[in-house]
Amino acid sequence: MTTATMGTKRKVETMPENAFAPHPGLKVWLGEGLVPVEEAVINVFDHALLYGDGIFEGIRIYRGRIFKEQEHVQRFLESAKVIRLNLPMDAEQLSRAMHETMRANGVTGDGYIRLIATRGVGALGISIRRTANPSIVIIVDKIALYPAEVYERGLHCIISAINRNHVNSLNPRIKSLNYLNNVLAKAEAQALGADEAIMLGIDGHVCECTGDNLFVIRRGELLTPGRWEGILEGITRGVVMELARKRGMTVLETSLVRHDLLIAEECFATGTAAEIVPITEINKILIGDGKPGRITRQLMEDFVTYRNAN
Ligand code: PMP
Repeated sequence: MTTATMGTKRKVETMPENAFAPHPGLKVWLGEGLVPVEEAVINVFDHALLYGDGIFEGIRIYRGRIFKEQEHVQRFLESAKVIRLNLPMDAEQLSRAMHETMRANGVTGDGYIRLIATRGVGALGISIRRTANPSIVIIVDKIALYPAEVYERGLHCIISAINRNHVNSLNPRIKSLNYLNNVLAKAEAQALGADEAIMLGIDGHVCECTGDNLFVIRRGELLTPGRWEGILEGITRGVVMELARKRGMTVLETSLVRHDLLIAEECFATGTAAEIVPITEINKILIGDGKPGRITRQLMEDFVTYRNAN
């Protein structure tokens, strides 16, 4: 008799091969302490589930050290402030909990931290007044990367038909748990055989990729959409701007449109997980000569040197 026919109503699902399963033995921070991953469950009345009401950070660990820890915690606090979420932990307690979760999982090399705050359990209505007990969740795990081949050939992107959230609706500077806008653009790119989507604002200005910031090089200058355009103010973006300035390059936060992308000499995306990844094709048009550009490769090297020293 199979499990599915044993008289229980619960259907046993078989996991598709590409489905992700957390590794057994993983310890997750939930609320006030560490629990085994099997017990790391969130109440179905939590507004994080009901409304995507909460915030998060994705953070890298390099050689057992948290990269840009203060910056991530600061952005987390800012996201919380703007969505009127009173976090149950301050910056110091959040840092301590992240390090404790790393230690509990024996992470001494490279890894990834997902820091989350949920709105907490509430009534079925959307009012935050009827919610209580926001939960802090910290997951420390391995990092999922684009394969090495993508860094060599560059990302193939589409310009999505789905616009990035407007700054006056859900400002992308809030790293909220409501990522449906990005999920849909990514799914569109994959359905069309591309790796990634570039999202424009409703005014046609370039914003960012679905989980990474965007840069172009034109006449040797490094240009990136301004923070007013509807982007997450990426921490990797900040590092790359600093590295390019150190190389003596002109770096401008500006407004860009589709045309600027297509005529760029070079293009690349930046993010915590991807670091710097070249973009070599947009809507099947080659960027530059269709290979990762010289300045992009230089910045990729500079980034590795920087993160190994920080
Ligand atoms: N934009 C979006 C929408 C993102 O989700 C991310 C990654 N968290 C980024 C940009 C890159 O930001 P960071 O460099 O801080 O990871």
